[in-house]
Amino acid sequence: MSPGVPSGPAEPSRKVVAAPGRPSAGPDPVTLLRTALAEDWTVGLFAHVNPDSDTLGSALALGLALRDAGATVVVSFDAEPFQVPDGLAFLPGHDLLVAPARLPARLDLVVTLDAAAPHMLGVLADRMAGAPHTLVVDHHRSGADFGQVRMVDPDAPSTSTVVLQLLDRMGLALTADVATALYAGLATDTGSFRQATTSAAAHRAAARLVDAGADPTVIGWSVWGIHRFGYVGLLAEVLGRAGLSECSGAEGHRLAWTYITDADLARHGLRLEHVEGVVDVLWGVLEADLAAVAKELPDRGWTVSLRSRGPIDVGAVAMGLGGGGHREKAGFTVSPGVNQAAAGQAGQAGPGGGRPDDETRVGQIVAAILNQVRRHASGHSSSGSSASGSSGDGPMGTTTIRVAHLAAAPRPS
Ligand code: MN
Repeated sequence: MSPGVPSGPAEPSRKVVAAPGRPSAGPDPVTLLRTALAEDWTVGLFAHVNPDSDTLGSALALGLALRDAGATVVVSFDAEPFQVPDGLAFLPGHDLLVAPARLPARLDLVVTLDAAAPHMLGVLADRMAGAPHTLVVDHHRSGADFGQVRMVDPDAPSTSTVVLQLLDRMGLALTADVATALYAGLATDTGSFRQATTSAAAHRAAARLVDAGADPTVIGWSVWGIHRFGYVGLLAEVLGRAGLSECSGAEGHRLAWTYITDADLARHGLRLEHVEGVVDVLWGVLEADLAAVAKELPDRGWTVSLRSRGPIDVGAVAMGLGGGGHREKAGFTVSPGVNQAAAGQAGQAGPGGGRPDDETRVGQIVAAILNQVRRHASGHSSSGSSASGSSGDGPMGTTTIRVAHLAAAPRPS
């Protein structure tokens, strides 16, 4: 919970917690998985919606390792149509993937990877709720009542390193495919080994995975470097309307932000999964310690990615807005109908060149983020998970604050 530099333990600590009220349901994850193997359970491994390489790499790695040990395993995630995002096509084990609608009628054990709450599973939340045995493998710090058996290590750099611990404890083989899937999750969740999650333990895990056959060059380019040409044009547009803002009460903390509409994506032939990297450009803005990219969803809601390079915990900021995540990387979503009326209170619309209603909406979102930043900067941090929406200003922050838009990116004439 405490912000700041990573404590850098020699090895990630293992926190195995049985859910309250189910003390004997599953004593620990190793026993549970050994039982699954011994009794030939059908095991469903679930990644979260909008899968990234940590959630899907962790699920496929654990799936491959368990299948190699003789288990009956399927891997799934909620997506319609059910297809692996472009950037994750290199992950091994695609033959384990089964669409939610085609899953076996009975799953004896459901294991979730990198998901902090049921809603992150989308339609698969029901399959988890209906499973006789559940195991949560994760490194997010929220959701202690989620899952009968939990192997959750908030200090782990990625869920994939928690899976690595699990494989070690079970004595399962680290094949080249398993190592590749685990390394992908580790490389992604450490920001290619530059974020605060990049502990010595992260590098030791990486070294083991490379020794076992993971190729850092192939995985690195796959995860971070490859994009479609249309992305270059989209970058030019959305970075061209970026803003730099701060709010009264939190001077010293500045947010570099921009937004991407559904129409932007369509114009450049891209989907949401192709533009995850836009926020990384803003993350490095010298004059800011915070970055945000708001992306319009097909239902006219917005999904917002947050990044921090300084002391502000954007995981806590996101939690205050109904989302969650980590200290450096987090996100939240804004539903379509959220109070347009607050636009007048939320400061000026952005300096960009989009449609006025998009600009107004994004102006609201920027103000809501800065309002949360102001609360956390002044020590009114909502340390509990239940503070969201209960303290007078709702998820979109109807408190009146003054937002100063310090700069807008130069516009082409
Ligand atoms: Mn992760």
